[in-house]
Amino acid sequence: MLDSFGRDITYLRVSVTELCNLRCRYCMPEQGVCKKAHEEMLTEDEMILAVRAAASLGIRKLRITGGEPLVKKNIVSICRRAAAVDGIEEVCITTNGTLLPALALPLREAGVRRVNISLDTLDRNKFRYITRLGELDQALAGIDAALGAGFEKIKLNAVLVGGFNDDEIPALAGLTRRWPVDLRFIELMPMLDDDTFGPEAFLPCGTVLERLPELQPAESDGGVAKLYRLPGAQGRIGLISPLSAHFCGTCNRIRLTADGRLKPCLHASAEYSLKGQDFDGMVQTLRSAILSKPSWHGALDAENRSHAGRSMNQIGG
Ligand code: SAM
Ligand code: SF4
Repeated sequence: MLDSFGRDITYLRVSVTELCNLRCRYCMPEQGVCKKAHEEMLTEDEMILAVRAAASLGIRKLRITGGEPLVKKNIVSICRRAAAVDGIEEVCITTNGTLLPALALPLREAGVRRVNISLDTLDRNKFRYITRLGELDQALAGIDAALGAGFEKIKLNAVLVGGFNDDEIPALAGLTRRWPVDLRFIELMPMLDDDTFGPEAFLPCGTVLERLPELQPAESDGGVAKLYRLPGAQGRIGLISPLSAHFCGTCNRIRLTADGRLKPCLHASAEYSLKGQDFDGMVQTLRSAILSKPSWHGALDAENRSHAGRSMNQIGG
């Protein structure tokens, strides 16, 4: 369905939980999130109903995210049922990878076609620092499991944090030589209302081009990343610049939170609840949400702070 600015909205990101087994410093507070009452969250049946309603309006692609989607006990069932909805052509998942050793194959068999795995550093101590609770070896074992499970595409996501991992740009990019994966650098977004990171932490993606002059432009795949390739690499390097070069003009996505709120724009506070609605109610609400999608996230640029009203683990990235 077209929104008010002529953008065809075909992509729904579904956050299936706010909970996570890690506490990445740019995403979640150290103490984690207050667990919401069970009744406030969408049930599996409501999620699938929402996907059916969205598909009836032209949604073709789903990304399952979180929090950490793999901590959800019924994640394989959610993916299997979502992939079977008429009109849904592609189900992808975004994960921190640590639980993939057990789940990569079941998810692939459930119809998940692509997987994005977050990996900000290749240094064990830095991994512990940025995730507060994680072990690098678990994430690497997850990547290994994904490589063996036959996904159509694997992308690794690294959030660029100045003074933390900018010295690892060549090593992270080098993973595209070692494995058949794309590696995407993502600009840090100011989501948490605290001073975890000072201004020096916000690096524009152009830093990657400065550090890797050998990068050659690669053809766009229609996504939000600008694509490049290291000579001889199997996969590509993507630069995702929501801050320095926002891509609102071609944004084709809406988001659904685990408590059933539709967010037409990541950085705006407007939300529309689907919780407790039947199919027709969901279709109506989805239609209103799509028609209210703003032309761009102007609020972010004016004060350089997101007006999302939620932290990233509650939205799903
Ligand atoms: N737990 C999963 C994971 O880490 O991949 C899925 C949810 S996580 C919120 C989705 C993506 O958002 C991850 O790639 C993460 O690095 C990214 N993210 C979280 N907070 C961010 C921030 N403040 N700025 C930029 N990216 C962020
Ligand atoms: Fe969890 Fe992903 Fe947020 Fe890290 S980025 S705390 S893994 S939800």
